[in-house]
Amino acid sequence: MAIATINLTFILDAKNWMTQFNQNDKKYMMYALELAQKGAEQGEVPVGAVLVQFDEAGNAAVIGRGFNQPIAKHDPTSHAEIVALRDACRNLNNYRLPENTSLYVTLEPCTMCVGALIHARLNRLVFATTEPRAGMVGSQANLLAQDFYNHNIKVQSGLYADESAQILQDFFRKRRNMKKTQLTNNSKD
Ligand SMILES: [Zn+2]
Repeated sequence: MAIATINLTFILDAKNWMTQFNQNDKKYMMYALELAQKGAEQGEVPVGAVLVQFDEAGNAAVIGRGFNQPIAKHDPTSHAEIVALRDACRNLNNYRLPENTSLYVTLEPCTMCVGALIHARLNRLVFATTEPRAGMVGSQANLLAQDFYNHNIKVQSGLYADESAQILQDFFRKRRNMKKTQLTNNSKD
């Protein structure tokens, strides 16, 4: 009985940690959402990402940012996370991220991005909404829970999940409507 109580407490604590966010977290996820919106305005699936380095005093500095833009860049690897990683690594002249760096991204990362984040030695990942179709941090699989990697990334999720999902939904609805209008116009020709 006692063991059951301890386990339950542990699960509740873990759950709280997963959904506990501070002012910095909110500020930078909001920034990532703004970047996602920028992507939507350019016709790209709206996903935004911000890399933030924290020092020991808790001061934060944005070291990289990006939004999804494979269409504009003719580059299937130009996901928001990769664009932000390249931005940070170029700024810092380093192929690895500094310690205590968090990535704020509006959508659960895919296979490629999880791999890149491990290579970059990211410390902490915070993502907003899940990607049920191909998300690799819990939805289809959890790559970060595999023990064959030589690096661990802390994960938190759910921050501004509804806002991120809304931006994506609006984007896809708009795109569907545009296609419908095009079809209607074509049938009139
Ligand atoms: Zn990706």
